[in-house]
Amino acid sequence: MTKMQIKEIRMHLVQGLHTMTDQAITDVLAVENCPDDADFASQLAQHGLNVSMQCRRIKRIREMENALRRLVQSDYGMCEECGEEIGVARLKANPLARLCVSCQSAAEEGLTRCA
Ligand SMILES: [Zn+2]
Repeated sequence: MTKMQIKEIRMHLVQGLHTMTDQAITDVLAVENCPDDADFASQLAQHGLNVSMQCRRIKRIREMENALRRLVQSDYGMCEECGEEIGVARLKANPLARLCVSCQSAAEEGLTRCA
């Protein structure tokens, strides 16, 4: 992978991270800045509904941070199963990918061996 490609993927990740964090903060502010009690209660209920969504979002933020961390290390872009390169096209489409295409489909089929 070239430096240019790494930079491109990092931009992509940082941008995604910003969007995710902004959304999370907006949700919290909506609850905190509520002027009256009735509204607060409904906001809080709404917030409760958002919790599972938040959990998924936080998980995704963690994955993104993880990918960013791996990006500065040498093992980014390497399949965690077989150690082969994942491929730039796949990483651009999904910067969080940790497996190459064949290992990913094997994993999805519940197989552990690398095709
Ligand atoms: Zn693999």
